[in-house]
Amino acid sequence: MITDTIKKFVSRLLTPKPTGPLRIGPETHGIDRRNVSRHAIKVCEVLQHEGYEAYIVGGAVRDLIVGMEPKDFDVATSATPDQVRPLFRRARIIGRRFQLVHVVFGQEIIETSTFRAPANETQETDEHGRILRDNTFGNQEQDAERRDFTMNALFYDPVTEQVIDYHDGVADLKARRIRIIGDAAQRYREDPVRMLRAVRFAAKLNATIDPATREPIATMATLINNVPASRLFDEMLKLLTCGHAMDCLRQLRADGLHHGLLPMLDVVLEQPGGEQFVELALERTDARVRAGKTISPSFLFAALLWQQVDVRWKQFLEQGEPTIPALSQAVDSVLDEQTEKMAIQRRFSSDMREIWFMQPRFERRIGKTVYRMIEQPRFRASCDFLQLRAAAGQFDSVLAQWWMDLANANDEKRAEMIEDAAALPRPAGQPADPAKRRRKPRRKPAAPPPVI
Ligand code: ATP
Ligand code: MG
Repeated sequence: MITDTIKKFVSRLLTPKPTGPLRIGPETHGIDRRNVSRHAIKVCEVLQHEGYEAYIVGGAVRDLIVGMEPKDFDVATSATPDQVRPLFRRARIIGRRFQLVHVVFGQEIIETSTFRAPANETQETDEHGRILRDNTFGNQEQDAERRDFTMNALFYDPVTEQVIDYHDGVADLKARRIRIIGDAAQRYREDPVRMLRAVRFAAKLNATIDPATREPIATMATLINNVPASRLFDEMLKLLTCGHAMDCLRQLRADGLHHGLLPMLDVVLEQPGGEQFVELALERTDARVRAGKTISPSFLFAALLWQQVDVRWKQFLEQGEPTIPALSQAVDSVLDEQTEKMAIQRRFSSDMREIWFMQPRFERRIGKTVYRMIEQPRFRASCDFLQLRAAAGQFDSVLAQWWMDLANANDEKRAEMIEDAAALPRPAGQPADPAKRRRKPRRKPAAPPPVI
C-alpha cells in the first residue's frame, strides 16, 4: 500500500509537466494597451483576421512591462513575407539574409517578421562558431527559443491582451534578472554581440546578469573581435545612447569587453582627469536621452577619444610642432588606432575632426575669426564640446560661457558681443596674432603692442 503511494508519487515527480507557454493576463504583466502603438495593433489585427498568428514581440513588450516607452514596435507572425506584404497598402520586403516586411504608417515603421527557427548544426558558421546565416522559418515556440534573453522572448497579443511566455521571461523581468535562453557559452559563440547586449540591458533596466549568463563572458570576451566592425559600431552606438552609458562602460570594463570596442578606453579612463571628462560627456548624453532629446554620435565619440587626442597633441607640441599640425597629427594617430578595432564611419569621423579642430580657435575672440567660426556647420557642437572641457577644468569657464552665449545670441547681439570683446584688454600671454605665437623670441624686447 505504502509502496504504491510512493510509486505513484515518484512517477508523478518523473512525469514531465505538461509543457506549453505561460499565458499571462494584464493584471500580472501590467501592460496598458493605451501605451501600445496603434499601428502595431493594426498589423496584428489584420494578420489575425486573415487567420495568421501575430504578436508584438521583443524589446517593445519588455519595455512596456517595466513601464518604459518602447523605441519601436516589432511584430512576429506565422505569415511569410509574401503573405504579409499584400495585406497592407504601404509594405515592402527588406533584407537579404532574412527577409522581413516593413509596414509603413507615416513616420512609423512596424517591422514584421516571420517566426524563425533557432540555430542548428547545419547552419553556416565562421571558424569560431559565429552564425553567418539563420534563415529558416519556424513556429512561435522556436521563435522564442532563438531569441537572446528570456525577457526579450515575450509575445504580446493586443487582441486578448495576453503575454505568451515560453521561458519565464516575465518573472525574470519583474525580478530584474538578465537570463540567456539556452547554454550561455554556446549562445555567445553563435553571436558574441549578445554579451554586449547583456551588459546594455542590465544597465538600462537596472538589472543583474544571472550567474550562468554572466560567467562565460570574462573568458569569451575576445570573440567580440570577430564581429564585423559595422555591427559593432551599431551596437556601441545603442549602448552609448541607451540613457545609461556610463553604467554600461563601467560594466564593459569590468568584464573586459571594451577591448574590442574602444581600445583606448582603458588608457583614457586611467589618465588623470580622463574619467571625469568621459563621465561628464556621458552624463550629459544620458540626461539628453532621458529627456527625449536627440544626441549626436559624432559628439559622443569626439568626447570619448578627446583625452587621448589632447595628450598626444601636447606631446607633439612639446616636440616643437606648431599648434595646428600638432593637433592634426594627434587626431590622425588616435583615429587610425581606433579604426583598427571599430571603424567609426566616415560621416561621423569627419564631424569629430571639425569639433576637435575648432577647439584651439576658441582661445581667441577676434572679430573676423569669430565671424568665420560662427559660419562653420559644427560651431554649435564645438561650442557644446568646449563647455565639457570647461567643466572638466581644461578651459577657462568664463570664456567658454561667452562662446555659449554667442552661440545662443541673435545676429545683433553677436555683433555687440564681438565688439565688446575686442575692446577688452587681452589676457596676459595672448598675442594679437596667432602667427606671432610661433615666432622665435627677438633678441631685443620690442615695444609692447598697443592695447586695443
Ligand atoms: P532595443 O531596441 O531597446 O535596443 P531590443 O530587444 O528591441 O532592444 P533589437 O535589436 O531591436 O533589440 O531586437 C529585437 C529583438 O530581436 C530582441 O528583443 C530579441 O528578441 C531579438 N534579438 C535581437 N538581437 C538578437 C541576438 N543577437 N540574438 C538573439 N536574438 C536577438
Ligand atoms: Mg528594438
